[in-house]
Amino acid sequence: MSKRDPGDIDIQFVKGVGEKRGRALKEHGIETLEDLFYYFPRRHLDRSIVKPIRELREGEEVTIVGKILSCREQRGRKERFVALVTDGTGFLQCVWFQGMAFWKRIFKPEMTFAFHGKVGYFKGLQLVHPDYDRIEEGGDWQTLNTGAIIPLYSSTEKLSSVGFDSRGFRRLIRKALELYRDQIRDPLPVELLQKHDLLPLKDAITKIHFPGNQQELETARRRLKFDEFFFLQLLLALRRRHYHDQQQGLPFRDVGQKTRELIQQKLPFKLTGAQSRVLRDIWNDLKSPHPMNRLVQGDVGSGKTVVALVAMLMAVENGYQAALMAPTEILAEQHYINMHRLLEELGVHVALLVGGQKKTHRNRVMADIITGAANIVIGTHALIQPEVKFHNLGLVVVDEQHRFGVLQRGALQEKGCQPHVLVMTATPIPRTLSMALYGDLDVSVIDELPAGRKPIRTVWRPSHKRREIYDFLRYELLQGTQAYIVFPLVEESEKIDLRAATETYERVRNGFFKEFNVGLLHGRMSPEEKDAVMQQFKSGEMQLLIATTVIEVGVDVPNASIMIIENAERFGLTQLHQLRGRVGRGEKESLCILICDTPLSPEAKMRIDTLCQTNDGFHIAEVDMQLRGPGEYLGVRQHGMPDFKLADLVRDADILELARQEAFEIAQKNNILLQQILKNARRFKFVQRFYERMDFAQIS
Ligand code: ADP
Ligand code: MG
Repeated sequence: MSKRDPGDIDIQFVKGVGEKRGRALKEHGIETLEDLFYYFPRRHLDRSIVKPIRELREGEEVTIVGKILSCREQRGRKERFVALVTDGTGFLQCVWFQGMAFWKRIFKPEMTFAFHGKVGYFKGLQLVHPDYDRIEEGGDWQTLNTGAIIPLYSSTEKLSSVGFDSRGFRRLIRKALELYRDQIRDPLPVELLQKHDLLPLKDAITKIHFPGNQQELETARRRLKFDEFFFLQLLLALRRRHYHDQQQGLPFRDVGQKTRELIQQKLPFKLTGAQSRVLRDIWNDLKSPHPMNRLVQGDVGSGKTVVALVAMLMAVENGYQAALMAPTEILAEQHYINMHRLLEELGVHVALLVGGQKKTHRNRVMADIITGAANIVIGTHALIQPEVKFHNLGLVVVDEQHRFGVLQRGALQEKGCQPHVLVMTATPIPRTLSMALYGDLDVSVIDELPAGRKPIRTVWRPSHKRREIYDFLRYELLQGTQAYIVFPLVEESEKIDLRAATETYERVRNGFFKEFNVGLLHGRMSPEEKDAVMQQFKSGEMQLLIATTVIEVGVDVPNASIMIIENAERFGLTQLHQLRGRVGRGEKESLCILICDTPLSPEAKMRIDTLCQTNDGFHIAEVDMQLRGPGEYLGVRQHGMPDFKLADLVRDADILELARQEAFEIAQKNNILLQQILKNARRFKFVQRFYERMDFAQIS
């Protein structure tokens, strides 16, 4: 047993476990010794962070350590369990509601606990439902008093019942480390560790459980976070190498005549420097012998559509079909209308495939796709249905990529034979996140807006000022301005919001704004109805458009220069930025008014303030990610990202960058080292699992 890797040692054979307790641990996901070593403390308790009860203030989040003096149950309608705790400097009540029997079993007089929570006040200071950990009077208490740090572990009722509460884990892991730590082998070579001042794995695992001080804990964490990023990046690097060196693509031969004509004569504007640069990147990919896999990032309004259009025309002129997938029908329809207009006279046939089309029409479109009569196909998810078959698909474009899952992109790609892939996103993805998510894609950034764009002025007003705002809007409409009023569409209350939009529409069109042509747009309308409204608004016939967030993407009416967003406090930051991007597209200076129900929560205030202060999508994305966390920000799961145990995409950006550099360099330049690392890493179950998961959600 002595030479085996911790990942090969069944937990039940670890000293101090046994069969019954082993079963409980396995149910909790701890199947091997390696899992136990990687069962990191959820927090550490350090004397320096423990506050004397005497010094507690209401509202702060604290950790205290104290002995239970007495316990009291309060029955009746508001059942409560109250433990009176003292640390010698003062008294504090810890309170739990419900589950009396459970708390009674855990908390007994004379026991010492660490409690963590927010200080409240109800006839004296109290902690309501604090996080708790049993502290042993002997061992732990002494350790704590000598200034050492105690690890606290998550547990469950079941685990506690077989002795593995936080304290039990502490003992088990301490013992396991003593006995088996020398069996931990490091997957990374010593030179790499030395180069970046990283702790050997064995030490890192020991110290993350039992650090001597905060600094040791930090260095242990740093090493383990490095691993999490490194193995992910290595996988991405390998995949990328795979695209670049190994796969046969469809090399395009020539930027055709029509493409030149489109750019030089047909477009109503000159491409920006950034657009030209990105198109050069794309062309270089398209003519190379390997398939393109490129992400184009560009803020709202930076002009990504035309880049996609040119790329698709290149595909057509090289004898292939191209497909563009958009997340909403409105967006797909707008793309279709614009592209059809520009391309039809060049003899390129553009087709539209969306959900709500009539059967006969739809069959015709499907036939055109399969025979190749349709050169360019624009659509929604409808494109990835199994019945849709292409003649020879050479380029796949995914617009607003962040709205789709990885699997959907893959499904479209599979309709061709190694087609080139271009994904576009307007949600500016913070650099760190894009590295982690799209590390295997090449990235081009459109970092320049078309000339002459004026920054949008954004202000917020409390909802009781609505009347004044509408008065102002009326005045502006009389001057010939076009405007939007947008209502939030929060999933769970979709109907309510739809009603808010519909009711406002009914009310104002015969009332306050009766001399204007007012329109309504929401997701439940048929494609024809939506289209009719869009056409009227575009032509200027309609002055005011009341909408739900369906207009978030794809609506492009340069003359519209005022946007009012109702209940703005309910939107996410990125979404508000996207919505706001519907104005500021023309000559006139645009204004965005955020109407909020007050008082604002601190977080809502932060969102609203950020939006009023800046138009920079990348800055906004950073703030958004900090507020919401990267997982929430983009639905990280959906992107096939593994959960990191320790690493944080926002706070650990520097480690990520380091790990990425190393991983890519090794994957590209040092095959011997690469093979050695992969061989070592495969012994680690956590790496294996992680790779399985990533493979399942192939980004490719
Ligand atoms: P997004 O990047 O948000 O998808 P779009 O492609 O919808 O942006 O472009 C926004 C608007 O800018 C459109 O009206 C488009 O016609 C216009 N536009 C794009 N490129 C240029 C350019 N180089 N000069 C002037 N206007 C442009
Ligand atoms: Mg767009």
